[in-house]
Amino acid sequence: MRPEILFPLFKPTDSLKGVGARLKIALEKLAGEHVMDLLFHLPSGLTKRTRIEQLDEQFLDQQVIITGTARQHYPSRNRRVPYRITVDVNDRPLTLTFFNGREDYLKRQLPIGEPRLISGKLEEYSGSYQMTHPDHILALGDAGSIDTEEAVYPLTAGVSNNVLLKIISSAEKLIPQLPEWIDPNLVTREGWKSWKEALEASHHPKTDADLEPDDPERQRLAYDELLSNQIALELVRNSMKRKKGRSLTGGADVIERLEQALPYTLTHAQNSALSEIFADMQSPYRMLRLVQGDVGSGKTAVALMAIGKAVGSGAQAAFMAPTEILARQHLNSLKPFTDAAGLKIELLTGRIKGKKRAEILDRLSAGEIDILVGTHALFQEDVVYQDLGLAIIDEQHRFGVHQRLSLSAKGKPEHGGVDVLVMTATPIPRTLALTAYGDMDVSIIAEKPPGRKPVETRAIPVERLEDLATGLQRKLEVNERIYWVCPLVEESEVSDLAAAEERFRYLSHLYPEKVGLVHGRMKGDEKEAVMEAFKNGDIQILVATTVIEVGVDVPEATVMIIEHSERFGLAQLHQLRGRVGRGGLAGTCLLIYSGPLGETQKARLKIMRETEDGFRIAEEDLRLRGAGELLGTRQSGLPEFKLADLQLHGRLLEIARDDARSFLQQDPKLSTSRGSAIRTLLYLFERDSAIKYLQSG
Ligand code: ADP
Ligand code: MG
Repeated sequence: MRPEILFPLFKPTDSLKGVGARLKIALEKLAGEHVMDLLFHLPSGLTKRTRIEQLDEQFLDQQVIITGTARQHYPSRNRRVPYRITVDVNDRPLTLTFFNGREDYLKRQLPIGEPRLISGKLEEYSGSYQMTHPDHILALGDAGSIDTEEAVYPLTAGVSNNVLLKIISSAEKLIPQLPEWIDPNLVTREGWKSWKEALEASHHPKTDADLEPDDPERQRLAYDELLSNQIALELVRNSMKRKKGRSLTGGADVIERLEQALPYTLTHAQNSALSEIFADMQSPYRMLRLVQGDVGSGKTAVALMAIGKAVGSGAQAAFMAPTEILARQHLNSLKPFTDAAGLKIELLTGRIKGKKRAEILDRLSAGEIDILVGTHALFQEDVVYQDLGLAIIDEQHRFGVHQRLSLSAKGKPEHGGVDVLVMTATPIPRTLALTAYGDMDVSIIAEKPPGRKPVETRAIPVERLEDLATGLQRKLEVNERIYWVCPLVEESEVSDLAAAEERFRYLSHLYPEKVGLVHGRMKGDEKEAVMEAFKNGDIQILVATTVIEVGVDVPEATVMIIEHSERFGLAQLHQLRGRVGRGGLAGTCLLIYSGPLGETQKARLKIMRETEDGFRIAEEDLRLRGAGELLGTRQSGLPEFKLADLQLHGRLLEIARDDARSFLQQDPKLSTSRGSAIRTLLYLFERDSAIKYLQSG
């Protein structure tokens, strides 16, 4: 339950004075629905005003505050002519101009003969002083005065800065004094203020430096958010670890048979990932491990060995891929080896139905299937394993923390949770890995199997497309395969599909019967038939919208052509490029672009030409795009930060991670007074779902 002290912060914004239904909707778009969201909506700028007694040239083009008395109103009957008012400022005239000014309103604001405090930018127009749309007009002696420093907020339609200033100022009155959740040593070292003081100060910047991400107040607020993220992840992780799991200790014989069946020896990187995985599987606690390895680093073989250990220890294994095609491909690449080692492997996807499915489920629950490969279908409710010991999830950046957890619930209750091994080809920058995957242990396969030829990457203007297309002849003669990607852009799916179809017709005309087309609207078995034809060489050019499944393995593929490459992010380009040059043949990646290119687009293509290092590419991607966009925040289950910026606050993130770990070691139940302050912090940032892991442990 949310602590009472936070109640005022979680009131809806329309509980604030002056916020009605319409404004509430606009505020929700801008910041959120709660008072707290407004308080976390920090200024992005600062207006500095000078209080002046006399109009003077030296103040031109500056923001000033003056005292002026209206002498004459010149209402306008013509929309194009502004409403003007002359005011006397210490005997000198100043003209106030209002476009579309309302007469009744302005006469009330600036009655003739009455002094007013007025602020705005001092300008010159036709040789006299002028101020267009003053931002404040106040009667003297009014309760308020005009601030010489005023925050400027990011705005949205229907919310002006003045309105926001008033609303946030009344929201500030609700800021409670909260117990300190940060390690006191850190507070001292960084010279931080309390949460309340830091939040208030952030809304009242005095200098431009106060707006910067390295401003101490902003750092403190960012740290709070990062700490809540790291504590939440650490709680999940600890509860997973404390969860009893199955100790899978056997399997040496099966592993040896599998190793003998492989046509290569495992690399050092594969072996070291495996020894971490085996140690987890042997321990009596549940494994939750992420294996990160660039495309082509050989994760499948690692998965195979882990499966061998699970099955050799008497348990079953499940291997889940995000799509049907990938699931089938995994089955095909595992089966020769599992067959050789005498293990029984089956496929289960959403397309397998009726009698066939019933038969698979029977054998599964009877323990006659050792390994089940498939899609989400593997974890449907009626799928009952005889004794599931290991769940492997491939390409999982599409799943969130909670989905990962639900997977591990398929084991026998008396054996505790299933060991979970997650494999991703998305190289994740360290900072992101900490926030998104901090609940998991991580193994990295840092080296690729020997014999990989580098992929040559070139950027090619679309004007040269025909030359390029006709030049493919040479590749076809030596039986190489070519991917030709035409991206699908969400807003105009139909016309982009048409573009892919047109490209297909054009290439088919050049190379009759050598070209195939796959796109997202095709039925699963149609897609597979085309992929199959591409694999076995019946067709040699595959035109695809981006649906060519990341992970598809066709060793003869040597050329990757990407149209509109400027529309892709770096990570995507890297993934696509990873599809070629796998079979020991040199690969080529051609990035077709239609100019003129923006700076970011140029930078992307440049990086692609410079490096094949997935981690470097990911870091650059983070730099160019920002964290939110990188993995597609929403679908990836990546947390969104309101106050922290992963690019700018990386230092704080590492401190938060270490602090979260060491603190939870001392106080795993959050029962000390700092522990209870940390609970409040989790509720403040709505990460309280992690609290349930305290009880369940
Ligand atoms: P990933 O899934 O990490 O992208 P794969 O597991 O599909 O990579 O492996 C890519 C290719 O490398 C496959 O063709 C596989 O047979 C091969 N491979 C894997 N491990 C080794 C190794 N140790 N030595 C040589 N080739 C390997
Ligand atoms: Mg793979």
